Amino acid sequence: MKTALITGSTSGIGWSLAQEFAKAGYNIVLNGFENDTPIAELCRSLEEHGAKVLYLDADMRQVHQITAMMDKAAQYFGTIDVLINNAGIQYVAAVQDFPPEKWQEILDINLSSAFHTTRLAIPMMQQAGWGRIINIASAHGLVASPYKSAYVAAKHGLLGLTKTVALEVAEANITCNALCPGYVKTPLVEAQIPATARERGIPESEVISEVMLKNQPTKAFVASQDIAALALYLCSDYAGSITGTSLNIDGGWCAQ
Ligand code: NAD
Repeated sequence: MKTALITGSTSGIGWSLAQEFAKAGYNIVLNGFENDTPIAELCRSLEEHGAKVLYLDADMRQVHQITAMMDKAAQYFGTIDVLINNAGIQYVAAVQDFPPEKWQEILDINLSSAFHTTRLAIPMMQQAGWGRIINIASAHGLVASPYKSAYVAAKHGLLGLTKTVALEVAEANITCNALCPGYVKTPLVEAQIPATARERGIPESEVISEVMLKNQPTKAFVASQDIAALALYLCSDYAGSITGTSLNIDGGWCAQ
């Protein structure tokens, strides 16, 4: 059985990734903070699909915790076959008001943590002769929106990291790609609704129709299960030649 380590997998897109990979026969390393559902319950529901599950509470802001997570996962499962860098946070403010500590936190979680997990996973993947690295970027890795300077900068950076890693490991049967979702209705997005309403001086109801889905031509949120299905495809034998690229799953947003 292959093992998938998914950062930030206790909620939202990461949780869908954990569920779909468990259903597809992977063992799962679950990571992230506890939310409404207790961690033990999340683990149990993955185990019902036959997966072995290891929960590690490493904080993606802390390099030593990331290192310990990678070591523990490798000790427990022998190796990490699939690494999905998904943990991410958002903060919305005009650039001149953007708190420097929030800038740093977003860069640490949304970008630097992927550098650390990747550099630690590659030797294991090289030894196994196979590996898949998938970075959950965003449409904001390709285009900008106002008030999201740190997020947009981190996600653009993540695409640069994706391309560079892909080139370095191309001959080792390891691929590295980024997925660029549009808006997905997860706790991360729900939290942005009041903040965006405040920043733009509009009612919360208008944030969904006039800000979030305005540029998403389908006028519908992306389903997190669809992102997980695309990630599973990248792990299939058919996807060995797909590397160093970013795949949009954004309802047509970036076609404009
Ligand atoms: P979410 O808030 O539902 O989940 C985020 C996860 O990251 C949670 O499990 C949380 O515990 C974990 N996390 C947060 N800080 C952490 C830290 N310091 N260390 C470890 N784990 C941490 O968010 P989501 O919407 O599912 O977002 C997941 C990823 O998808 C993010 O990288 C986000 O940028 C990206 N994304 C989301 C959307 C969207 O519309 N929701 C769109 C494009 C990209």
